[in-house]
Parts: sequence; structure tokens; C-alpha cells
Amino acid sequence: MHDLAIVGSGIVGLAHAVMAVRRGLRPVVIDRHAAPIGASIRNFGFVTVTGQGAGGTWQRAMRSRDIWLEIAPEAGIEILQRGLLVTAQRPEAMTVLEAFSRHDMGRDCRLLTADAVRADYKGVGSTLQGGLHSPHDLRVESRTAIPRLVQWLANHGVAFRFETTALAIEGTEVVTPQGRLRAGAVVVCPGDDLSCLYPDIYARHAVTRSQLHMMRLSPPGFDIGCPRMSDLSLVRYRGYAELKESEALAGGLAREQPQHLEAGIHLIVTQGADGSLVVGDSHHYGRAPEPFYDVAVEALILDEFKRVLGIDPPPVIERWLGTYASAADDLMYASPDDRVRLVVVTSGTGASTSFGIAEETLNDLFGTETSYER
Ligand SMILES: Cc1cc2nc3c(=O)[nH]c(=O)nc-3n(C[C@H](O)[C@H](O)[C@H](O)COP(=O)(O)OP(=O)(O)OC[C@H]3O[C@@H](n4cnc5c(N)ncnc54)[C@H](O)[C@@H]3O)c2cc1C
Repeated sequence: MHDLAIVGSGIVGLAHAVMAVRRGLRPVVIDRHAAPIGASIRNFGFVTVTGQGAGGTWQRAMRSRDIWLEIAPEAGIEILQRGLLVTAQRPEAMTVLEAFSRHDMGRDCRLLTADAVRADYKGVGSTLQGGLHSPHDLRVESRTAIPRLVQWLANHGVAFRFETTALAIEGTEVVTPQGRLRAGAVVVCPGDDLSCLYPDIYARHAVTRSQLHMMRLSPPGFDIGCPRMSDLSLVRYRGYAELKESEALAGGLAREQPQHLEAGIHLIVTQGADGSLVVGDSHHYGRAPEPFYDVAVEALILDEFKRVLGIDPPPVIERWLGTYASAADDLMYASPDDRVRLVVVTSGTGASTSFGIAEETLNDLFGTETSYER
């Protein structure tokens, strides 16, 4: 009998395991694959605070960022980059950044003139109008961070059952082909698996899947300083997009970059320890997204890269697709049974918010303290 059974070894499941260990609980984590290979290792590893939706998502991101900073050194995870630079390529984008800097969420962020950006950063395009620097954000390399988190958890008494599918949850028992696992409570974190566990709840929340094109580029020969975003991000990230000032920007983008908007493209550029750049992304929605990488989408992403960084993109050395669960709200949280919680991040924010979410879930199941706006 385990204190807690967690289905899913992506960042949402692992964050619950970390917070359970911190409470002195001994959880078991169950995953159908031999290792975590879902959204959580395919992402940028960008723990993004600035730009998250005002209220609960921003608060959870802030809390998660703090927990990442505590857990990373313990688990041997390197924080590769800190902060965020959003550069504006149009006056309307600068207006959004100015409005954001006046908002509560922008209080520690700095507005920068074009000259100030050029003085501090290499790789800025000729259309630069200025930028906003946030000190809050950080970046890890997910493909190493997630396995290290698994190892840290295993060293702290967490049992892992890989290659074990949870077929059903009955009471607080997890039914698997290899037998039943009994637990005091169950947290189910299956990500974008819409049809195995609780398909009715997924359907009620109209959860679908979002598919993203991602690539790694050779080192450009300089340090980009911190992760970058561009005008297109300002109409996608709710923290900016919900400001009334973003309407004019959205109109301009619709006229000037309709293909980028159509493919759900916005630019994130992060940099690894070896200098290589992780660049993305696009968004195509549907329960069964095309499994084929589209080079036309890649060309649009690299077009935005060139405009924003002002250099020809270095050679692409890796390409991949990723999917995550997507719905109108950032988070789907349900209680299918008294001691069972279904926790699914339904936006591209799982690396940024999972620790805060996990803290809330465990408070809900084992005793309360924190809660954020839903
Ligand atoms: C390309 C890409 C870039 C992204 N960039 C960022 C970013 O920079 N910052 C950010 O915050 N977020 C980002 N995201 C979003 C983030 O990665 C996701 O929100 C997060 O990884 C979701 O975590 P998860 O644990 O729910 O899902 P997953 O990592 O997909 O894990 C779910 C796990 O559950 C297991 N599972 C499912 N059903 C069962 C079952 N019945 N039995 C056993 N096991 C089961 C699966 O095998 C899987 O391992 C990005 C996503 C993608 C795809």
C-alpha cells in the first residue's frame, strides 16, 4: 500500500511526486512508457512567468519558479538561462510592452529602448523598436532535467512502475495489466491521452491536442543572453494578449504575417550549454494531428527568427514534434472520486506551473494551505 499513486511521469506527475516527498509521503509513479517521452522532455524547458495569464496561472508560475530553484541544485539540474527578453519589432508591440510594464505583473520588469537592447544583447534585428526584460523566468534542458528528477525521486524513496498502463482507477486502486496498486489517494496526470482514463471529463472540458514544430540550431557563435520572444508572442501569451493595447498589434499581424498566425507560430529562442539554440514553435490543433514534420512551417519559424535576431539561421541540427493537451482554460482539475484527482495542464504552461499546481493538489488531498484563483 502506497501513500499516493501518481499516473504519468511527465512534469505534472513528477511535480506531484516531489511535493509528496516534501510532505514525507512515499508515492508510486506509474507510466505506460519505459521512460518519460511525452511533452515534458520535448519542450523548451522554459519556466515562463512573464506573459502567463493574470491571476492563477501567473501565481502558479511564480511559485513553481521558486520550487524549480530549490529542487534544481538538489537534483543536479543546471539552470541554463535566467530572465526573458521580449523584443518589439513594431511600434504597436512596444505599446503592448509599455502597457504590460504598468500592470502589476510587470512591476519588476524593465522597459528597454532599442539602443539599450543593442548595448546589452547580441542578435537583434534592424526593425527593433525596444524591448522588455523580465528577471523572473528561467530555463532548464528538459531532456536531461526530467531524467534527473526521476533519479532524485527514486533516491528519495519514490517507486517507479514504467511500462505499466493504468487501465482504470477503482476507488483508490490503480488497475494495470500487471495487477492492482493500492494507495491512500490517486493523482492522475495523463497529459494529452484523451481516451484512456476519464474520457468523459476530457470531453466535458473540450480538451483537444496542440502539436508543435521544434528544432535545434547550431551555435550562432554568441551568447543570446536570455530566452527571447517576439511580437507574435504578445498575441499568444494571455498576460499580454488580454491587455486592450494588444488589439492594434493583432490587427497589424493579421495584415503583415497572416501565414504565421495561421500556423500558430510565435518565436521562442533558448540556448543550451553548448551554445546551440532551441527554436520554435507552431500550433496545430486536433485530436489526431498530422504526424509529419512540415518544412513549410519550419521556414515560417526561421523567417521570424531572422527578422528578430537579425542573422541568417544557423543550420538545423535536430527537428521534432511535440503535443500537449489544450483547452480554453490553462488547467483541468477534477475530483472523479473522494481521494482521486485528475490534473491536466491544458495549455503550453506545464513546465512553468506544475510545482504550484502540485502543491495545491496535495493541500486539497492531505491538508490545506495554499490556493490560487481558478
Ligand atoms: C514542443 C513543446 C514545447 C513546450 N514548451 C513549453 C515551455 O517552454 N514551457 C512550459 O511551461 N511548457 C511548455 N510546453 C508545455 C509542457 O511541456 C506541458 O504542459 C507539460 O509537459 C505537460 O506535462 P504532462 O506531465 O501533463 O504530460 P506528459 O509529459 O505528456 O506526460 C504524461 C505521461 O502520462 C503517461 N500516461 C498517460 N496515460 C497513461 C496511462 N493510462 N497509464 C500510464 N501512463 C499514462 C504518458 O505515457 C506520459 O509519460 C511545451 C510543450 C511542447 C509539446
